[in-house]
Amino acid sequence: MSQIAREKMEYDVVIVGAGPAGLSAAIRLKQLDADLSVVVLEKGSEVGAHILSGAVLDPVGLDALLPDWRSMGAPIKTLVQEDNFYMLGPAGQIRIPNFPMPPLMNNHGNYIVSMANVCRWMAGVAEGLGVEIFPGMSCSELVFDGNRVAGVVAGEFGRDPATGEPGPSHEPGMELHGKYVFLSEGVRGSLSKQVIEKYDLSKGHCPQKYGLGMKEIWEIDPAKHKLGTVTHTMGWPLGKNAGGGSFIYHLENNQVYIGFVVHLNYENPHLYPYMEFQRFKHHPMVAELLAGGKRVAYGARAISEGGWQSMPKMVAPGVALLGCSVGMVNVPRIKGNHNAMLSGKAAAEAAHAAIKAGRAGDELAAYEAEVRGGAIGADLKKVRNVKPLWSKYGLVASLMGGGLDMWTNTLGFSLFGTLKHGKSDAAATGLAKDFAPIDYPKPDGTLSFDRLTNVAYSFTNHDEAQPAHLKLKDPSIPIAVNLPKYAEPAQRYCPAGVYEVVAEDGKAPRFVINFQNCVHCKTCDIKDPSQNIVWTTPQGAGGPNYPNM
Ligand SMILES: Cc1cc2nc3c(=O)[nH]c(=O)nc-3n(C[C@H](O)[C@H](O)[C@H](O)COP(=O)(O)OP(=O)(O)OC[C@H]3O[C@@H](n4cnc5c(N)ncnc54)[C@H](O)[C@@H]3O)c2cc1C
Repeated sequence: MSQIAREKMEYDVVIVGAGPAGLSAAIRLKQLDADLSVVVLEKGSEVGAHILSGAVLDPVGLDALLPDWRSMGAPIKTLVQEDNFYMLGPAGQIRIPNFPMPPLMNNHGNYIVSMANVCRWMAGVAEGLGVEIFPGMSCSELVFDGNRVAGVVAGEFGRDPATGEPGPSHEPGMELHGKYVFLSEGVRGSLSKQVIEKYDLSKGHCPQKYGLGMKEIWEIDPAKHKLGTVTHTMGWPLGKNAGGGSFIYHLENNQVYIGFVVHLNYENPHLYPYMEFQRFKHHPMVAELLAGGKRVAYGARAISEGGWQSMPKMVAPGVALLGCSVGMVNVPRIKGNHNAMLSGKAAAEAAHAAIKAGRAGDELAAYEAEVRGGAIGADLKKVRNVKPLWSKYGLVASLMGGGLDMWTNTLGFSLFGTLKHGKSDAAATGLAKDFAPIDYPKPDGTLSFDRLTNVAYSFTNHDEAQPAHLKLKDPSIPIAVNLPKYAEPAQRYCPAGVYEVVAEDGKAPRFVINFQNCVHCKTCDIKDPSQNIVWTTPQGAGGPNYPNM
C-alpha cells in the first residue's frame, strides 16, 4: 500500500485513460450490467485534450460496441472517397497503383475523423450509462495489495518543485480501488510500464517498437480541398536515414491532417525527426497543396509498431492492459483505434464475467485469450512481418516482401513464418562519430515552422510550480555520457524542444529540461540511448490541449 494516508474510494472497475480503449471498456461494462460501478480517470484537462490521432477510423470496433452509432450523433461523417499512395523523390513522385495492394490496405468503408472528438462523444455515451469520468486526474502510482494491483493514486498536487517532497499546499490525492484495474494509457503508459516490468510481462516476446508521429492541422484553399481523400507517402526526405512516411487526410471544413511518422529505430543520432517533418512539407506536391493555407494546430505522440510479436502478456493479478498500452497498431494500415476499442470491449466482458462469478483481483485470462485468438490477433498476425522486413532490408525490399507476405497471409499462410524484431529502439541508436551530421534547412515561417512556434499550437500548458515530471535516473548521464557518445540526441528527437544542452561562455555545458513544453508523446522515455529518462505524470491537468476541431 502507498505510504501517504489518502481517502479511498471503491469501484468494481477502475479505468486509467479516456482514449478509445478505456472508454469502450467503460461503455461495455455498463451495457452488460448497469449496476457495476465504473470510473475513468484522464490526465488531460478534458476528454480528448491528449488525443492526437487525426485518423482514418476502421469502424469495426465501434460496430461491435455501439451498432447504432450512425444514428447516435457520432462525429464520424467523412467516408474515405479516394486512396492514394506515392513514393516521393526530392522533386517528384510516383503513384503506386492500388490494385497490387492487399485488400486489408483498402480504406473503403473507413472514415476520416478527429479521434479527440470521437472520444469526447464516447465519453458522453459512457456518462449517459452512468460511468463516472474525471478529467484532470493523472494517475501517478499503482496501489498494491500483496501481489495484486488493487487500485491507483490520482489527483496528487503540491509537491515541492525543488525537492519533490510534499510541500505546504500538498493535496495527497485519493486512492481509487477496484476489483479490477484497467490500464488504457495508450502507447508507453507510465503505469503500464511498471506493471510490465514488475510482472515480467514481456518475457518471451520481442521488444516493443515505436514510431514518433507528428501532426499539423491546416486550413487550405477550398479549391484544393478534396473531402474524403487519403494520401500516404514514403521515401523522401527520410531516404536511408530512417523508416517512416507521411499521411494527408482531407476532413471537413477545408481542413487537412498532415502528419509524419519516423520509426524510432533509426541509428544516426544526428537525425532530427521534427525537421524531417518540416522539410517534407516543402516537397512540391505538398507545398502546392498547402500554399495559401494556414496551420491551425500541431501535436506529437509516439505510436506502437511492434504489433503481434511485441504484445506482452496483458494481464497480471488485478490488472489488465488495454489498447496501445499493449501495442495494437496494425503498422502498414497505421491503424490502432479499432483494436483499442475491441480490446476495451473484450476486457469489459472478461471482467463482467469474473465479477458475476464472485471473483476479484485475479488474472483475466479470458481477456488475453480473446485478444490473441479473436479479431485483434487476426488483424495483427496478417501484417506481422512488414515491420521486421522494413527494419532489416529497407523500404523497397520491405514493400515487395511485406506486400507479398500480406497477400499470402490473407490466403492463410506466410513464406517467412514470424520474423523477430531486433533490438529496442534505444539500443538501435549508433555513435555520433560513426554518422555524418545532417544539414536541415531553416524553417521559412510559412510552410515550415521552428519547434517552439509550433508547440504553441499544441496549446500545451503545465503549472510551473511542480517538480519536473521528466525524471533522470542519473542526472550526470546527459552531459557525461550522452553528449560525447551520441551528441545528446534528446535535443533533436523531442518534438517539443523540451531538452537543451546549454553551453554558456566559459562554463561547462548544462542539460536543461523545459518540462512545461512536454506534449506527452513519450519519445524521450523510449529513445534515450542510456534509458535514463523516465516519463512520469505531471501534477494536475498539464499537457497539450488539442483543439475541438
Ligand atoms: C500520428 C498518429 C497517427 C495515427 N493515425 C491513426 C489512424 O489514422 N487510424 C487509427 O486507427 N489509428 C491511428 N493511430 C493509432 C491510434 O492513435 C492508437 O492506436 C490509439 O490512440 C490507441 O488508443 P488507446 O485508447 O489505447 O490510447 P490513447 O488514444 O493514447 O489514449 C490514452 C489516454 O489515456 C490518458 N492517460 C495516459 N496515461 C494516463 C495516466 N497515468 N493517468 C490518467 N490518464 C492517462 C491519455 O491522456 C489519453 O487520453 C495513430 C497514432 C499516431 C501517433
